[in-house]
Amino acid sequence: MRILLHICCAPDATTAYKRLSMEHKVVGYFFNPNVHPRQEYEKRKEAVEKLSKAWNFKVIYPPYEPDRWFKAIKGLEDLPEGGMRCKACIAYRLRMTALKAKELGFDAFTTSLTTSPHKDVNFINEVGPKIGKSVGVEYFTSIFRKKDGFLESVRYSKELGLYRQNYCGCIFSIRKEKDGELLRKIG
Ligand code: SF4
Repeated sequence: MRILLHICCAPDATTAYKRLSMEHKVVGYFFNPNVHPRQEYEKRKEAVEKLSKAWNFKVIYPPYEPDRWFKAIKGLEDLPEGGMRCKACIAYRLRMTALKAKELGFDAFTTSLTTSPHKDVNFINEVGPKIGKSVGVEYFTSIFRKKDGFLESVRYSKELGLYRQNYCGCIFSIRKEKDGELLRKIG
């Protein structure tokens, strides 16, 4: 199968790519207009470039267009992490990956997001097939964090010296992290 793998970040992509490429032909798709600010986006992109060079696989980098992401989550900005804003954000990134997979004639698409212990894999694997059906390309169901997939990603990332971010990505998740820091200081 030819699979287009949505890559959310280099560390999560390690396990996802390693496992998928054992049986499939995999190309990465770094589609993350949610990431703020641009310098952080570039840092995460550079880490993916480092991984793709080290492991010799192709990754497609669409233009960074955060305005389109802000439109996709409009009205949900103030909701807490893990809620509807995140669902809209993930669904948007999956839909754009599915459209690219269809455009380029891939057999299926999937995402490295399921490597993370912080992501709602039930939601991802529920919405993925629906998006796939509406676009006309198969969604490849995955839970890469299973069987110590996350620990595996930590190990690969250390070996390769990959940058690992300390917040999910959007401006709202930075604010949450800063609020957390403040609370820790006060506490
Ligand atoms: S916290 Fe993460 S998943 Fe949720 S909206 Fe922000 S970038 Fe997207």
